[in-house]
Amino acid sequence: MAPQCQALTLSDAKRCSEIGTQSNNLFCAYHAKQCHGILENTTQLIGQKFVILRALERLERRTAEVLYESQKWFKWVRQCQDDEEAQRAKEKEQVKKEAALFQRHWKEVEARLRRLRQKEDAKRQDEFLEMAYQERMSQEDEDT
Ligand SMILES: [Zn+2]
Repeated sequence: MAPQCQALTLSDAKRCSEIGTQSNNLFCAYHAKQCHGILENTTQLIGQKFVILRALERLERRTAEVLYESQKWFKWVRQCQDDEEAQRAKEKEQVKKEAALFQRHWKEVEARLRRLRQKEDAKRQDEFLEMAYQERMSQEDEDT
């Protein structure tokens, strides 16, 4: 008995009534040709699938690299900001210390100037009293 083609027709899913002469007698000449076209297309699609998968792998790897770099970048920026903040705090503290030092020094200078002025005033007063005394004495000499 001649082998029947194994292909099913698309319209009613019934077996093809032709004799199977191609592909180990599985298909008739018409369906063997169709299957060959489908196999070629499938092979092409599988090839394309591998190309796409490889591209996706590369994309994933690159994405991971970019994420890692941007994470490093953000960490670096954060570190810079922290350093700047610490530096600003240090400078503020230094300015405060210098202001306090200046204040203390200025108070010392003011106290010294006050003492000098008091000494000067006392000296002038002494000189004035001495002059008045001398004048009085010379007047008394003239009167006697
Ligand atoms: Zn057939």
